[in-house]
Amino acid sequence: MSARTSRVDHARAAADFIADEARTDWHDGALWFVREKRDLAAAAVPEWEALRELASAIKEHTLSRLDEYLVAFEEKARANGVHVHWARDAEEHNRIVFGILEQAGASRLVKSKSMLTEECGLNPYLEARGIEVVDTDLGERIVQLRREPPSHIVMPAIHLKKEDVGATFHEHLGTDAGLSDPVALAAAAREHLRQRFLAADAALTGVNFAVAESGALVVCTNEGNADLGAALAPVHIACTGIEKVIPRLEDLGVFLRLLARSATGQPVTVYTSHFRGPREGQQLHVVLVDNGRSRQLARDGFWRSLKCIRCGACMNTCPVYRRSGGHSYGSTVPGPIGSVLTPGLDLERYAALPFASTLCGSCTAVCPVRIDLDAQLYRWRQIVAESGQAGTAKAAAMRASAQVLGRPWLFRAAGAFARRALRLLPRRLARTAAGSWGEARELPDPPARSFRDWYRENRSDASTQGRGP
Ligand code: SF4
Repeated sequence: MSARTSRVDHARAAADFIADEARTDWHDGALWFVREKRDLAAAAVPEWEALRELASAIKEHTLSRLDEYLVAFEEKARANGVHVHWARDAEEHNRIVFGILEQAGASRLVKSKSMLTEECGLNPYLEARGIEVVDTDLGERIVQLRREPPSHIVMPAIHLKKEDVGATFHEHLGTDAGLSDPVALAAAAREHLRQRFLAADAALTGVNFAVAESGALVVCTNEGNADLGAALAPVHIACTGIEKVIPRLEDLGVFLRLLARSATGQPVTVYTSHFRGPREGQQLHVVLVDNGRSRQLARDGFWRSLKCIRCGACMNTCPVYRRSGGHSYGSTVPGPIGSVLTPGLDLERYAALPFASTLCGSCTAVCPVRIDLDAQLYRWRQIVAESGQAGTAKAAAMRASAQVLGRPWLFRAAGAFARRALRLLPRRLARTAAGSWGEARELPDPPARSFRDWYRENRSDASTQGRGP
């Protein structure tokens, strides 16, 4: 195990989260509301499935020639007057950003939302070196004031209610105690952030797409904070994972139509800004970061995870994420895609995450770039088990399941035994023994024989011709 960190215990963290039943229900409902908005937005686009197919194909094509497109992007960006930096890992990324700030004499940095800088631990790195870092995305600023990590990649403070935000602003921004009106809270944040924007020496933004054909950086936000930061500060640093490159401007429309609809159900993000070169007197830097992405690209069965455009839809739909909260994953990117990406960074630390899923496939069904998330989670489970990282109880349970599920007669016998045992118990006890199902899960007894048996008996002509179920 890596000495720097301990293993993530998702089950324990999830148990802490669901101990507050009312908050869990509220969190579940808030995420499901976003999922439903996504469904309505997707259904309103007749060519939705064709767009997903196209987006997936563009990403797969780009990933299969990533070196070529990155070099093409670099050449164009340099020709546009952009300083291009390459970072092998988080440490190098942080060093490069600090070096740029140091050289420019900058000590106050405003940042727009960038999961990459969270992944690299940039804020503490810079703060330890005397740089004031202010996250300017509203959700990010809220969690930064609380000294918490984001719990979602698109909605960083989705785990907090407006009353929590009111208490945080009262403590840090001096708003009235008990203030929980979202409009008033947003106005207080605006006032507070406006002063930071005006005083900043440098602005850092994330990147949603890097266009190889033109060398342009495309940044999508709903608050305009990236634009304001980059427009005011004399130094603009854009940090991007190497997988964000796309071949042509023409491809961008495909992703933009999918991104906001998948993320929040909006037709498009409020701001979609193209930074092609520095404005007069400004420095524009782009830092291209690997940090394990090349290794993931080389992994058979997992390289498609790099198609991700970070819309967050897989989190909003995941029943485990919705009811365990983003912090329970202990990783920068939570939910299904996080559980696919992070074991590749540190298998021992993140061995529990591929199991934080029901494998229902809902994540795969909504993913705008058609990543086979459930299949990749299943593959990671196999790797975790083979590497001996599954833990004694889980390994024993999986061995027992394999024995039972691999032998239909044993599966049927176990089912019959369980049914008989439940019938012998008093009704109330039987419900408890069947799991913590509660009143809403009171289901009728399962049929005495399986559908397969019924089919064989009633459609024997079909089964004898090898067309049985
Ligand atoms: S894996 Fe797919 S659904 Fe999940 S964040 Fe990435 S693009 Fe969105």
